[in-house]
Amino acid sequence: MSENWEIYADWNPWHGCTKISPGCKFCYVYRQDEMYGSEISSSECRKTGNFNLPIKQKRDKSWKIKSGTIVFTCFTSDFLLKDADAWREDCWLMIKRRPDLYFYFFTKRIDRFLECIPDDWGDGYDNVLVGCTVENQAMVDYRLPIFKSLPIKHKSIMVAPMLESVNLSPYLDDTIEEVAVSGESGVNVRPCDYNWVLSVREQCVEKNVAFRFHQTGAYFIKDGKLYRIPRRYQLSQAHKANIDFRIGKYMVPENVKFEWSDDVYHS
Ligand code: SF4
Repeated sequence: MSENWEIYADWNPWHGCTKISPGCKFCYVYRQDEMYGSEISSSECRKTGNFNLPIKQKRDKSWKIKSGTIVFTCFTSDFLLKDADAWREDCWLMIKRRPDLYFYFFTKRIDRFLECIPDDWGDGYDNVLVGCTVENQAMVDYRLPIFKSLPIKHKSIMVAPMLESVNLSPYLDDTIEEVAVSGESGVNVRPCDYNWVLSVREQCVEKNVAFRFHQTGAYFIKDGKLYRIPRRYQLSQAHKANIDFRIGKYMVPENVKFEWSDDVYHS
């Protein structure tokens, strides 16, 4: 991956998702939809008006998304969601047409990966980074063996929302470019214990895999004491812990952008 990328863009070709595992319980897409007063159910997946964003051009014919940008893809849904099967092929074509961008998506549906890739995927596209999300040991044990076996050029593991202590060690090797850990955001959500975070860090250090403590979540336990961390401090508090390992640049956005309204959706 290029060392020169500095710029991020958000591309949400569709919006809405169905809950699939314990980590989805307080899904931020549902929370944000509620906050924005959306009248469409969050579980209803629909194409957005930004579907073609990677190939949109300005009046002077230059690309709307500048070359070298890292594009956070499908952060208001899951890129491998079954409901979006009919639309994904067009996304792959756009991804292929823009080899100058890096497309990064997270998924809780890594078990659908092989059904979802294009015919010419081969060992993977150079410009696609896939993050496998795991929230507890059961999901580690189910998803990571699958993830490990898949032909993907750039892989990361996202432990989010971290619901318990996990052992990732069997899956950490030089094919994993980053492990990131996050607590859960929202109201009345589940706490994250700093000891769990430190344990994953230790596993990463042992295997020389980059580690990043992304955010504390709303309830954070340190030295046995429970803290309520306001949203605006959840990232900075994690950063202040100063426990990142081998991290050069941030690979995920600080916040997902929710800048749409229902009328931008295609019917
Ligand atoms: S997979 Fe992600 S986007 Fe979909 S419901 Fe679960 S947490 Fe939300």
